[in-house]
Amino acid sequence: MKSIKPTVLIVDDTRLNIKIMTDILGDSYNLFCATSGRQALEIVTSQKIDLILLDVIMPGMDGYEVCTRLKKDHQTQNIPVIFISALTNVADETKGLEVGAIDYIFKPVSPPILKARVRNHIELKNCRDMFEKQSLIDGLTGVANRHYFDQAFHQEWRRALRNNNPLSIVFLDIDFFKKYNDHYGHLAGDECLRKVGNSLKDSLQRAGDLVARYGGEEFIIVLPVTSQSEAVKVGEKVRRNIKALMVTHQTSEVSDYVTVSVGVATVVPNNDMTSASLIAKADEALYQAKKKGRNLVAVAEL
Ligand code: GH3
Ligand code: MG
Ligand code: MG
Repeated sequence: MKSIKPTVLIVDDTRLNIKIMTDILGDSYNLFCATSGRQALEIVTSQKIDLILLDVIMPGMDGYEVCTRLKKDHQTQNIPVIFISALTNVADETKGLEVGAIDYIFKPVSPPILKARVRNHIELKNCRDMFEKQSLIDGLTGVANRHYFDQAFHQEWRRALRNNNPLSIVFLDIDFFKKYNDHYGHLAGDECLRKVGNSLKDSLQRAGDLVARYGGEEFIIVLPVTSQSEAVKVGEKVRRNIKALMVTHQTSEVSDYVTVSVGVATVVPNNDMTSASLIAKADEALYQAKKKGRNLVAVAEL
């Protein structure tokens, strides 16, 4: 089996330093190099980076600023950052750790120490990623995560098939959420996702109902033994309750507040259908809700 090398981004305005670190790490890692903070921020949006070695003093944007920006963006906040710096006093090291770095190494770097720390932090990151994937709860919103949803939905599908019961899916997506992030920032976006997650939990009454974060700003609800008309009522209720949170959204084109579009689909499963087809129907209904104007519920055709 071909093993894939982890990817490390080296950021330093002095090319000699980049060369030294490349010589130390080049055999074990795929390396990207940047000579400025701006270039580093560009690379992390286009490449999957596992760890960043970051110089502190650089012209233009310094390392602290780069690290602060990385930690603010949900797409990059989990990448471990190690500062590599000639500043060896306690205050500088403390500042580095405070802006979110996982470690701090002094220049001139010792090859075995650099190698060992990079290896350790990549191992730790892999463990964290695996743990998150295997756990059941979405870390941000506190509702079930996608992994748990996939398992639970499959079970509900088989139960409905066995008992000849209707099974409903309510699929929802926040309206103009990209504009929300652009206008209020990602941290406010995260807070908004938490509020929506809590509202969804509060809106569901039956013990068997399950709400999960399906992806980014999409949530999904499984309603066992629930007819289409009952599911539409649930969809309408969650839509109304989220609007009633009155989370201000100045740049939304449909409302002054954060709203969601909702797709509902119901089937009584039989052996000619797949569980994926029910999700696809709900997704198609959600698409129709977006197309019809957003902040509304649409129902899948049977
Ligand atoms: P539409 O009304 O058509 O759904 O438009 P939209 O802007 O909501 O949809 P789009 O898919 O274009 O953008 C989704 C945005 O959701 C982009 C992405 O940055 C943001 N997002 C996804 N996951 C997260 C997250 O965990 N936190 C934050 N803050 N934003 C997220
Ligand atoms: Mg959206
Ligand atoms: Mg979306």
